[in-house]
Amino acid sequence: MPLTLPQQQSQMSDKKFIVGAQEWCSLSKLDVAAVKVRVDSGAKTSSIHAFNIEPFTRNSASGSSEQWVRFDLHPLQKSRRAVIRCEAPVVDRRLVRSSNGTSENRFVICTPVTLNGHTWDIQLTLTNRDAMGFRMLLGREAMSGRILVDSEERYLHGTGGEDQLELLYGMTMRNPGTGLKIGVLASNPNLYSNRRLLEAGEILGHEMVFLNISQCYMKLDADYPAVHYRDGRILNDLDAVIPRIKPSMTFYGCALTRHFESLGIFALNRADAISRSRDKLYSLQLLQKHGLDIPITGYANSPNDTEKLIEMVGGAPLIVKLLEGTQGRGVVLAETTKAAESVINAMKSLRANLLVQEYIKEAGGSDLRCFMIDGKVAAAIEREAAPGEFRANLHRGGTATLTDITAEEEALAVKAAKTLKLDVAGVDIIRSRRGPLLLEVNSSPGLEGIESATGQDVACMMVRSIEQQLSGINEQVKLAVG
Ligand code: ADP
Ligand code: MG
Repeated sequence: MPLTLPQQQSQMSDKKFIVGAQEWCSLSKLDVAAVKVRVDSGAKTSSIHAFNIEPFTRNSASGSSEQWVRFDLHPLQKSRRAVIRCEAPVVDRRLVRSSNGTSENRFVICTPVTLNGHTWDIQLTLTNRDAMGFRMLLGREAMSGRILVDSEERYLHGTGGEDQLELLYGMTMRNPGTGLKIGVLASNPNLYSNRRLLEAGEILGHEMVFLNISQCYMKLDADYPAVHYRDGRILNDLDAVIPRIKPSMTFYGCALTRHFESLGIFALNRADAISRSRDKLYSLQLLQKHGLDIPITGYANSPNDTEKLIEMVGGAPLIVKLLEGTQGRGVVLAETTKAAESVINAMKSLRANLLVQEYIKEAGGSDLRCFMIDGKVAAAIEREAAPGEFRANLHRGGTATLTDITAEEEALAVKAAKTLKLDVAGVDIIRSRRGPLLLEVNSSPGLEGIESATGQDVACMMVRSIEQQLSGINEQVKLAVG
C-alpha cells in the first residue's frame, strides 16, 4: 500500500501556488512516499533517478500490447539503502541533453505527483541521477499553470519526509553516502578468503553480496546493458566488485568482470589484468620486458626442440610448469635430463602448454609471498615447503611465517604488481644466489595463510582500497561535471 505523508493528503486544486527551489513531494503510483525534488524552471524536462531500467510489453484489458518499463529507484539522496521497484507505461522516448552536454535517449512515463496537497500528472524521464544532488528534478513543463518557483526559498511546504524517513523507508539517514554495495564474484561462499571479504566489508558499513559467477548472466545492449542473477536480481546498482575467479572459471569470470566494468562498476582487479596474469608465459614476458629478474625460462612449440630447451635453462635438474597451473599443481621438478625429456614430451603429447625453467636449488624449497594492495606490500610471508617437497605453496603443505623482506625484494614486488596493473596481487619471489627472482604474480591471492601468519587484516585493507579508489573517481567526476 502506498504511504503518503500526513501533510500531503491528495486533493485536487487548480489554484497556482508558490514553491521553493527544493521541496518534498510524493509519487503515489510509484509507491514513492517522499522524495526531495529540485524545482528548476531553467530545465524543460522533469526527470527521476532510475536504474536497472528494463522495457517490457504488457497486454492491456482490451488485448492490445502496451510498452511498459520497469526500474529501480533510490528515493533518498546519497543513499542506496532504500530501493523501490517501479513499473509504469511508457508514453514516449525522448532525446535529452543533460547539463554536462551528453545526450541520452530516455524513457518517458506519466505519473501523478503530490506537493503541498495538490496532485497533478507530470511526465518524467528516467535517467541515472546518482551523480546529481537530487533524485528528482521538476522542470518547467511539469510546472506550467500549477506552480511558481521562488528560487530563493527552500521547503516552503515543510521539510516533509526528513523526520519520517525511518517510518517510511525503515531506515535512518545518520550516515548518508558511506555505505557501498560491493559484490564478491566467486564460486564458493565458504572459502576463507571469500568469507573474510564479506565480513570485513560488513564491519566497515558496506552492503556485501556474494555472487556466484556461474549464476550471473549478461545483457549486451547499446542502451541498457545489464548483469542479471539467476534469482531475478539485476546487479547494475553495485558500486564495486571483487573478482575472486577460480582458474577453471577464468574465461567466464573475466568476461563478467569486464561487463561490470562497462556498466561503470569498479572492479578491484580489472578483467584485462586478471586474464593477463592467468597466462604464466605472457606475464613473464611482460615482466622481463620491464626489466624484472626472473629465472631463465624456455618455451617451444615442437618436441624436436626439447633437447635445446633443456640446455638453454642450464640442464637438469629443472622445473617444468603448465602455463595455466596454480597452487603448485602443474609444477614438476625433473631431476635428470632423461626425466626432463620424458616429462616435457609426455606433456606435449597431451597438447599441454608448458614452460621449462632453471631450478633455483639454493632456495631450499622456500619462497616469499608478498601480498600487494594498491602498489604497496600489505603483508609478506616466507613459505617453506613440506619435507620432501620443493614447492612452497600452502596448498602443498607448505608453512608460512612472518618475514621481513629486503628493499630489493620489496622493489621487485612493487614493480611486478604495477607492470601487470593489478590492484591486488600475490607476488611470489624466490631467493637465488644472484638475488631475488620473480616466480609469478597471482591475481586472486588467498587470505588465510597471510592473515594467520602476519595477524594483518588483509580483507579490511582490500575493502579500504575500494573506498579510496571510489572516492578518487567521484572527485574526478565532480571536477569533470563542474
Ligand atoms: P603455482 O602457480 O602453481 O603456484 P609457481 O610458479 O608459483 O606456480 O610455483 C609453485 C612453487 O614451486 C613455488 O612457490 C616454488 O616454491 C616452487 N618453484 C617454482 N618455480 C621454481 C624454480 N624455478 N626453482 C625452484 N622452485 C620453484
Ligand atoms: Mg605460486
